[in-house]
Amino acid sequence: MQHWFLTMDKLVDHAARWHGAVEIVSRTADGAMITTDWRSVREEARRVTRALVAHGIIQGDRVATLAMNGGRHLAAWFGIMNMGAVCHTLNPRLSDEQLRYVINHAADRMIVADRAFRPALDRVRADCPTVERVIWLDDDGVDGWEQWLPADPVEVAWGSFAEEAPAGLCYTSGTTGRPKGVVYTHRSNYLHTLMILQPDVFDISARTTLLLAVPMFHANAWGLCFAAAAAGSKLVLPGPKLDGATLYELLESEAVNLTAGVPTVWQTLLQFLDDNRLRLTTLKRVMIGGAPCPERLIRAFAEQGVEVQHNWGMTETSPLGTAGMPTARTAALDADGRLRNKLTQGRVPLGVDMAIFDAAGTELPRDGEQVGFLGVRGHSVIERYYQSDETALDAHGYFDTGDIGTIDPDGYLRLTDRAKDAIKSGGEWISSSEIENAALNHPMVAIAAALAMPDAKWGERPILIVQPKPGCGDIADLRPVLERSLAKWAVPDEIRLWDAIPINGTGKVDKNQLRQQIFGPKESVASAAG
Ligand code: ADP
Repeated sequence: MQHWFLTMDKLVDHAARWHGAVEIVSRTADGAMITTDWRSVREEARRVTRALVAHGIIQGDRVATLAMNGGRHLAAWFGIMNMGAVCHTLNPRLSDEQLRYVINHAADRMIVADRAFRPALDRVRADCPTVERVIWLDDDGVDGWEQWLPADPVEVAWGSFAEEAPAGLCYTSGTTGRPKGVVYTHRSNYLHTLMILQPDVFDISARTTLLLAVPMFHANAWGLCFAAAAAGSKLVLPGPKLDGATLYELLESEAVNLTAGVPTVWQTLLQFLDDNRLRLTTLKRVMIGGAPCPERLIRAFAEQGVEVQHNWGMTETSPLGTAGMPTARTAALDADGRLRNKLTQGRVPLGVDMAIFDAAGTELPRDGEQVGFLGVRGHSVIERYYQSDETALDAHGYFDTGDIGTIDPDGYLRLTDRAKDAIKSGGEWISSSEIENAALNHPMVAIAAALAMPDAKWGERPILIVQPKPGCGDIADLRPVLERSLAKWAVPDEIRLWDAIPINGTGKVDKNQLRQQIFGPKESVASAAG
């Protein structure tokens, strides 16, 4: 057979050659709509490569992006990776200290950024000596995109390197300690792309119109830009605004049939639809991941005729780990069984393997009952962190995800917690996500977070922190709602209302910060129920 290197340039080459006229629609920061296509994205990416080469960037150099979802950002990605440089996606929601740390740790030579992030870069740049130049993506003045790019998209050398060469770099959010870098190779990204295209994973095709509500800096937007290029899908890139009105308008005007994002984004959209009595007319499926999908989201989307697909992954797994697609058996379950199946995080495709272990490292049975520490392995799962000498794998060759849960006989993973957030009461695990899910079934609850509270008798007991929807002062009947759906010992001892539960850089509840707020001196809101 021919040796066909699995390098990322093949993706956009394929998209431009065979799906060249398929649209890429971007909404800019000021609300303008820009439509290009795969052919133009490839040409723009070639101009990016030429500009990088002119600057002196060579294979292996790190070039960062600090930007929201848009067509120019996409062209920057391909221009950087396809010449063999490493595309480091910076998360704009990092603190200045974290931003400084990751830029220096990666030794980024250039940064391609949205103008909106200029204040943050101005604050950190003096402390980042490796950064030689910053280019503004949405500015056509000095150091702006169009000034930087050479006019002529002549052919450039793409893909003349080994498939194991690094293509991307993404840091974990660093909620526990320093952010850690994860390097994706061309090969791992290519195989990950093939994996997520499958009908039993994200089911992406040339008939897909995909709105990316997951930011491109969040674990490569779950690999969806690559999948769209591979399949020749139309992409809709919403820019910085992810409010309900903007998302609704884009979903409808671009006839989107598939979208992806974290649960908080969808809660906002559904609230907007509800408040304005609107219906989604083209959307067929929404892929949810990054945090547990609440039952009420599945129900609310079903009322709109939209299927929810619940997936699990992490930066370290490129990011797909498991996908929530039915098997012949689970598809034939009654409505309640199908709903319970949808609440799981899904099952592994070919290319990922997983197992759960007890604290001693013994593998536990896949009986849907026994809770253990989740380990994963596969062609797009981390082996070691960037610039670390140590393997990130355990004695069995699995990466310890830090998540805990069960695997049922059908192979579905049900996560109960992150190990560091788990609540252990009287020697038994209590699932914080089960408590949160139960609380979110109350229509007045906007965000719910269950925490472990030290307890003299039981070791730990759950406490529930609730942010009510705007305008709802008290939620007096929440406790009976919890008592109806939770085992008696899992019902939180205390429920507190909280004005603003902190959300982290990737749209998830920041439990570390919340714990500091709750157990620190800042407590300010009265107990809601005793
Ligand atoms: P971080 O949250 O640290 O920024 P990631 O975005 O890589 O980093 O998040 C990975 C973690 O997010 C997983 O280890 C898991 O705890 C959580 N997670 C992702 N998807 C789900 C899901 N569907 N259900 C529950 N937890 C999830």
